[in-house]
Amino acid sequence: PLTQGIPYEELQQILLTTPEEAKAREWSQYYTAGPHLAGKNLSQAIFTKERWEEFGIASEIVSYDVYVNYPLGHRLALLEKSDTSAEGALEEDVLEKDHTSGLADRIPTFHGYSASGNVTASYVYVNYGTFEDFNDLVKANVSLAGKIALAKYGRIFRGLKVKHAQEHGMVGTIIYSDPGDDGEVTEKNGYALYPDGPARQPSSVQRGSTQFLSNVMTIFLLGVAPGDPTTPGYPSKPGVPRQEVNGSIPSIPSIPISYLDALPLLKALNGHGPKASSINKWWLGGGLDYKGVEYNIGPSPEGLALHLVNEQEYVTTPMWNVIGIINGSIPDEVVILGNHRDAWVAGGAGDPNSGSATLNEVARSFGNALEAGWKPLRTIVLASWDGEEYGLIGSTEWVEEYLPWLSKTAVAYLNVDVSTAGPRFKASASPLLNKALYEATSLVQSPNQTVSGQTIRDTWSGHISTMGSGSDFTAFQDFAGIPSLDMGFAGGSEDAVYHYHSNYDSFDWMDKFGDPGFHYHVAVSKLWSILAASIVEKPLLHLNATNYATGLQNYLKAAKDKADQSAPKSAESPEISSFRGAFRHLEYTLHRLFNASVEFDAYAAYLEESLGEDIPWWKWWEKVRLYWQIRRTNDKYKYLERQFLYLGGLDGRSWFKHVVFAPGLHTGYAGVTFPGLVENIEAGQWDNATVWSHIIEDRVEAAIGLLHLH
Ligand code: GLU
Ligand code: CA
Ligand code: ZN
Ligand code: ZN
Repeated sequence: PLTQGIPYEELQQILLTTPEEAKAREWSQYYTAGPHLAGKNLSQAIFTKERWEEFGIASEIVSYDVYVNYPLGHRLALLEKSDTSAEGALEEDVLEKDHTSGLADRIPTFHGYSASGNVTASYVYVNYGTFEDFNDLVKANVSLAGKIALAKYGRIFRGLKVKHAQEHGMVGTIIYSDPGDDGEVTEKNGYALYPDGPARQPSSVQRGSTQFLSNVMTIFLLGVAPGDPTTPGYPSKPGVPRQEVNGSIPSIPSIPISYLDALPLLKALNGHGPKASSINKWWLGGGLDYKGVEYNIGPSPEGLALHLVNEQEYVTTPMWNVIGIINGSIPDEVVILGNHRDAWVAGGAGDPNSGSATLNEVARSFGNALEAGWKPLRTIVLASWDGEEYGLIGSTEWVEEYLPWLSKTAVAYLNVDVSTAGPRFKASASPLLNKALYEATSLVQSPNQTVSGQTIRDTWSGHISTMGSGSDFTAFQDFAGIPSLDMGFAGGSEDAVYHYHSNYDSFDWMDKFGDPGFHYHVAVSKLWSILAASIVEKPLLHLNATNYATGLQNYLKAAKDKADQSAPKSAESPEISSFRGAFRHLEYTLHRLFNASVEFDAYAAYLEESLGEDIPWWKWWEKVRLYWQIRRTNDKYKYLERQFLYLGGLDGRSWFKHVVFAPGLHTGYAGVTFPGLVENIEAGQWDNATVWSHIIEDRVEAAIGLLHLH
């Protein structure tokens, strides 16, 4: 490549040798030293900006005025014949071996965007509180209206659990962490509890946002969107008009609790209503059987009730993104690297500050390269987001503000949230970036080698998930159509339990269990910068259209299987046969996109090769023509993902503009592909499915037109 100032190989060498374990550990210590909740972390924003500037990266703080809640108080009591028989601690234990667990200003347990309320009612165990769980409860004739839902964490985004309870007329929601979802490493299996061992600390509580990320019922405005719920689709600058939040955040109170606090509630249900295990295989019960819980559903009988109080204060308050810029010589091709800085707890050593430490090492690496004379070809933006935890706020507001500029310039967004919480590499990406990710992971040594010399690619299955939601890539991918990627190392079912959104996601946990030695932090720093460098420096943009086209064909196959399941060939109505016609045409159009992509990538490879050939100076016009051809080809790569934006947006959630990727309506985190099409197929809405086939086909045609070479 044409890396100016220094050879590309030298740049790679600097990026692979700058990050240091001791430094990552130092950053981690700094970021996890005290509370830094969204809107309450200005000193860390300033610190981050100052460090980046020391590394030679011009940086600024960009702020928004955001509507959020902070906790005032709460109570949870089990009432037997109006007497209190158990009082929830609603607080995590102070542990001597975990120094931030006892800070005087530690953050109470609560839910972001939860509703204040004070209710006393009978309660029902609702399993994971999924859409299907609630359908099962209705089928089993369990009465829900007027009762409190007791749900366990897992499977879906917590806000949807509250939403489902609310939609079934329930008056409150309690969500607890069942050790049955912690994999192998549990007390039941003989593992010692944190801080003495790797099993879940029983008093640990998962805080987290309960914003409604999707709402099938909303048909006006933008439906429900991430970001500040009072400014869907536009930035929360001071003085802008604000929308009502009705329908985008819960109206019934909710609180998160530990399994210690859940135990008496679950036990009190023993013998009342059906056993969870009698419903179906999704309802097997949980991991507290060894403590005497039989997992009955309830409802709790006359005389057995819960008193739930949740008191929240709502304010409109500033949040601060730190934005660093390294200008490239091509002004309108930009690569963005982002991580959030706000945490639910004083620590947040995994979420997000393993990522923040990692990002600072990336910034330091880029700084070293600049000092060595590097002049980047494309522009690099570094972002430290605020407000991710409440609903991806800092990143969403920023994308909403800079959308016109991003639409013209952004080439890729590379997100790292939790860079390290265990030893297993995980990634999700737009398929345009698959190739770049495989190459970059092959250039970085793996921190868990079984054979010396293994790279991250060697120790990773190579599985890349589709983009869902749950972190700051969402606005880039789904709203702005910028190819995005999310990656990091996570724990699996055999690894130390990660105390997500709990006080024990702390420096001490990370130092002892998560990443002793901070090797994983360092590995992600190297991977992140090496990947970014390949996209910034290769003269032909390091994106691959064929992988995208193949991905689309696979997603369509999956949609076809769904359609075949819900509409057997034998029973075809006119609606179904016209849907099948539209679908076949879409298949054919995707095939044309595949052909166009193969041809396009081959042409790009040919241009890349031509660059390596010596063109004599007197054939200067050939050089000019080649540069012009590269420029034009890169433009097409840059705008390819954008073609898949449909300005009307998805049904009922029109902020989501991407016709290929969206968070699942019923999962919140996990992605669905061709959401408009698949959701209508699932609902048996064949007319709408036909409409969506046409909408998608239109977008695919636009992509084919863009890639066209002649
Ligand atoms: N990452 C945060 C969580 O999972 C926020 C996700 C969101 O609001 O979309 O709780
Ligand atoms: Ca907004
Ligand atoms: Zn996070
Ligand atoms: Zn989080």
